[in-house]
Amino acid sequence: MTKKRPALSKETEIVHGVHDAHVTSMDLVAPIHMTSAFRFKNSGHGAALFSGTQQGYIYSRISNPTVSLLEEKMALLEKGEAAVAASSGMAAIASTVMTLAKPGDNFISCTTVYGGTFAFFNQRLRHFNIETRFITPAEACKPGSIEALIDSKTRFLFMETPANPTLDILDIRMWVDIARRRRIPLVVDNTFATPYLQNPIAMGADMVIHSATKYIGGHADIIGGVAVGKKSVIDRIKEEYVHYFGPIMSPFNAWLFLRGIKTLAVRMEKHCANAMAVANFLGAHPKILKVYHPGLPSHPGHNTAKAQMKHFGAMMAFEVRGGIEAGKKVMDSVRVCTLAVSLGDCDTLIQHPASMTHSTYSKAEREKAGITDGLIRLSVGIESADDIIADLGNALSLLKSK
Ligand SMILES: *Cc1c(COP(=O)(O)O)cnc(C)c1O
Repeated sequence: MTKKRPALSKETEIVHGVHDAHVTSMDLVAPIHMTSAFRFKNSGHGAALFSGTQQGYIYSRISNPTVSLLEEKMALLEKGEAAVAASSGMAAIASTVMTLAKPGDNFISCTTVYGGTFAFFNQRLRHFNIETRFITPAEACKPGSIEALIDSKTRFLFMETPANPTLDILDIRMWVDIARRRRIPLVVDNTFATPYLQNPIAMGADMVIHSATKYIGGHADIIGGVAVGKKSVIDRIKEEYVHYFGPIMSPFNAWLFLRGIKTLAVRMEKHCANAMAVANFLGAHPKILKVYHPGLPSHPGHNTAKAQMKHFGAMMAFEVRGGIEAGKKVMDSVRVCTLAVSLGDCDTLIQHPASMTHSTYSKAEREKAGITDGLIRLSVGIESADDIIADLGNALSLLKSK
């Protein structure tokens, strides 16, 4: 049985979170329910579960206690009613989009999003006759420009903030005002911020999506995704899409995500403090042309980030003097940072969006989204900030000065 508990701070909720109502043993940590099906007590019980007159577990494509626990935990941390766990962040995005929009419908998204999201919106969805109306980051700050794209077939607004890879900050409350006025839901990809730094639903958004692969897991060892929102919408996503297309999360991965979440608060504190130190170092470095990090007062989204995030996050991008050739030299010279895609891991990761994560964009599409060829993206880890800075400093010192 779930016990009533006093209101807890976010740090405590992250560690304790939901009481495990599904587990009858006395385990301190919930066990992994690695089972495809569940026994019925008798034929009447089985029939009652199928008819819905009784609630319970039947089959793990439909629901599983370990996966339910992760869903409850994410709903708690994102302040939503319910959640659905999926096999990847893309599965969470696809299941949500395909439930909210039908052939002939459209939705609005900023051009600057995760590369896989962009390709899905820009190319794949066309095959389903679902249109994405893209708005540039500059126009995404103007309510009039967003509203001009909305018509009677617009089913939702989609945003990512901070956005990948340029760290554009979109004003969640401003988008909430538009969504409310036009009576369409706002969906926010909260992967970069995590529920520790930002809670879009508490600000009025309708849904939050995570690539749990990143900070939620936190250890670079599993792929998964979660969507959080109203129970009625989450139930539709499960019943209309997930149950049939089958992009479910395995109980083992759900268990690893629950394990990862326990340290989310301490990891994020260290990630963010390290990132601020690295951003300040790069910002003052003579061989760096530009640093994109919302914690720097020079970043155009600095004040909005301050208003809607607890800290500024640990993702950043920068441009080296000498363009892409100099950037490649930096990526090939680092020894503490690892050259790899993905983000939100304990390890600091460095990569080149134009040729890697955002190669799904044409050059013209990248230019529109502000993703320059010389941009290098950094996911700052939880190593010693001094070691990360010394590593980047050493790589930069190998560049010829002009
Ligand atoms: C990685 C990522 C995704 C996709 O998630 P997967 O788990 O790789 O499918 C979506 N949005 C953002 C912001 C991401 O970083």
